[in-house]
Amino acid sequence: MKVAVVEGDGIGGEVIEQGIRILEHLTPEINLTHFDLGADRYLRDGTTLPDQILEKWRSDFDVIYLGALGDPRVPTNVHAKDILLGSRFKLDLYINLRPIRLLDPRRCPLKNKDCDDVNFVVFRENTEGLYTGIGGQFKRGTKDEVAIEQEMNTRKGVERIIRAAFEYADRHGHSKMCMADKSNAMRHGHDLWRRVYKIVADEYPNIESNHLYVDVLAMEMVRCPERFEVIVTNNLFGDIVTDLGAILQGGIGLASSGNINPNGVSLFEPVHGSAPDIAGKGIANPLAAILSVGMMYTHLGRPELEKQITAAVRACLLADQITPELGGKLTTKQVGDAVLARL
Ligand code: ATP
Repeated sequence: MKVAVVEGDGIGGEVIEQGIRILEHLTPEINLTHFDLGADRYLRDGTTLPDQILEKWRSDFDVIYLGALGDPRVPTNVHAKDILLGSRFKLDLYINLRPIRLLDPRRCPLKNKDCDDVNFVVFRENTEGLYTGIGGQFKRGTKDEVAIEQEMNTRKGVERIIRAAFEYADRHGHSKMCMADKSNAMRHGHDLWRRVYKIVADEYPNIESNHLYVDVLAMEMVRCPERFEVIVTNNLFGDIVTDLGAILQGGIGLASSGNINPNGVSLFEPVHGSAPDIAGKGIANPLAAILSVGMMYTHLGRPELEKQITAAVRACLLADQITPELGGKLTTKQVGDAVLARL
């Protein structure tokens, strides 16, 4: 297993350090290579994400393990955009896989919900939609200004993410799929989503395929999260509903994610950002970064290790071995110690 590590900015390095302890404990043979990318590097020599590094990742690595990017010293956030969007687009990481899984019922803001009630995955399209930057501004800064942002949906892009979601559901024995769009208002791009969804769904007669407008999905995720097993949606809606999901599972410090290209190198990262307000204080919650290690193991064909990690994290949560933002007293390192002790 060859892992490229990018600690990034702010709390990125602090949480990744704990994830690395888990990796080294469970698989001592692991081969880690650190890449110096992030705000410090950008401020030092202007480097964001060079093509040679992308090429190296493609040819020499199985996965990339990323902390977080974002730094108040770079107000344009150009380095973060280059590294995050650059790796998604250039490595074609078209699946953003976000498990929404409640591990400790006390962490859920919904009334009377247990762990089984909040347990689904979201497949967010990760390379198209409103994130391509297509559009423009006309008469910028005047009263007549026009700003146009265009959403790109390709048949290939829509089909491959829908297919990936169905294949996942099939492989994991799920019986329900939900696709969310806004085809009542976005009548061209999202009509494509509807048609392609039907074509792919017809190939999976054993999986019940549902469709919701994304506004209804948002309501249903709060009213009745237990009705979902696998959700597939576009880039923007996926961004929004997975943050809603992160809160349902107990907060951003517990949300892990994968940015996956099934035919190439993939990237795993905690969902949270660099949290400059708590950086350097040693109190960042490392559990999302540790759960991301679990996802990485499953991706590399070691799902039993993800199960062990999830069980250890759940046990820590239930025993209140947690950082201050969740109401605990432990430091980042102490939470790492606690997970390791349980493993
Ligand atoms: P960025 O601009 O890089 O996305 P951000 O600070 O604006 O970073 P997040 O890091 O996602 O956005 O989170 C917002 C706030 O949530 C942080 O400022 C911090 O207070 C809290 N937070 C986020 N992640 C963690 C964590 N792992 N542990 C503890 N608190 C966290």
